[in-house]
Amino acid sequence: MNFLEDSIRLLRAKGYKITGPRVAVLEVLSKAEIPLSAYDIEEHIPKNIRSNVVTIYRVLDVFEELGIAHRIHTKEGYVRCDFELKRGCHYFAVCDKCGRTSEFLHKDPCFLKKIIPKNLPLKNLKHITEVSGTCQQCS
Ligand SMILES: [Zn+2]
Ligand SMILES: [Zn+2]
Ligand SMILES: [Zn+2]
Repeated sequence: MNFLEDSIRLLRAKGYKITGPRVAVLEVLSKAEIPLSAYDIEEHIPKNIRSNVVTIYRVLDVFEELGIAHRIHTKEGYVRCDFELKRGCHYFAVCDKCGRTSEFLHKDPCFLKKIIPKNLPLKNLKHITEVSGTCQQCS
């Protein structure tokens, strides 16, 4: 599996143009080991690509919608999805200290479907679950 190629293929399949900023953000996310904010990403974008933080946020919105990237709430940043288009629940183990994030997948059926009360129905349930602790390098 190749994050860059797979993501470009997915963007095309969904009718999105392959723009300079989209490719540049994919390249930054493909190398990142910790969640990056739109500002962090903007700093890594090559100078010949015309973009600003607003552009980066728009790109990230599309990526989040398509499942190419995830927003990590505890670190207020974005990471690539390591299991693009794979069904199931995407979980993140986040190190409190260095922010290193590892993704793991849990296959359907989602346990949340069983525990969400019947009076709170949700269709097309999506969720991001983050578990935090101390990684091996930091402990
Ligand atoms: Zn994922
Ligand atoms: Zn750590
Ligand atoms: Zn789930």
